[in-house]
Amino acid sequence: FAATGFAKKITVATDTNFPPFEFKDPKTGEHTGFDVELWDAIAKEVGIEYDLQPMDFNGIIPGLQSGQIDVGIAGMGIKPERAKVIDFSEPYYKAGLLLLVKSSTNDIAGIEDLEGKLVATKLGTTSESFLKENAKAKEIKLYPNNDAMFMELMMGGVDAVMFDSPVIAHYMREVGKEKVKVVGPLYGLDAATGSFYGIGFPKGSPLVIKVNAALKSLKESGAYRDLYIKWFNTEP
Ligand code: GLN
Repeated sequence: FAATGFAKKITVATDTNFPPFEFKDPKTGEHTGFDVELWDAIAKEVGIEYDLQPMDFNGIIPGLQSGQIDVGIAGMGIKPERAKVIDFSEPYYKAGLLLLVKSSTNDIAGIEDLEGKLVATKLGTTSESFLKENAKAKEIKLYPNNDAMFMELMMGGVDAVMFDSPVIAHYMREVGKEKVKVVGPLYGLDAATGSFYGIGFPKGSPLVIKVNAALKSLKESGAYRDLYIKWFNTEP
């Protein structure tokens, strides 16, 4: 890899389960999804070899800070606090946050109704900080991954789940179906909440500029658009 200056095989972290961005394909046992395929296309463009390392989302930023991980692609919101400790690529996706309840719930119509209620989300995410700043819930229960968080809602351990809109939409379509419903508007659409997803790097990584160039060329070639349609069934 002398041409790129990256002599080693780099480590790329992704979330264990954040569909349709990253998840384990039950048929192949391999991780796949929009993030996984976008990264693969970027890596080919830049000319770098990598190992994909799925891990709990909460471990990714510390892993980048310590330099144990070279890249993190995990639907990670670009937030000012995070940008102080890691570098981000240009944004590659925009999402809001949605509040999900069981279909039988009739006393929660939005975050203003979370007072005295239990709400679940994933540890270390933009939903955790959004809830802390905007909801008066009795308790914000934090889970390391999507499965645990959604399971808690289905089991009745919490009254609501707040999480990224595309992931909530995917959960409703594939798993929760008529058992769950979204209440309230699309929250957290501002950049300060972290609505733009970016790829993360250790501070000062020489990869940032190359990845941004690759992202740009994938957008120009139509490859980004093709991936977007494949995983989201809609135009970017
Ligand atoms: N977009 C959210 C965040 O940046 C959640 C990411 C995730 O759970 N993989 O915190």
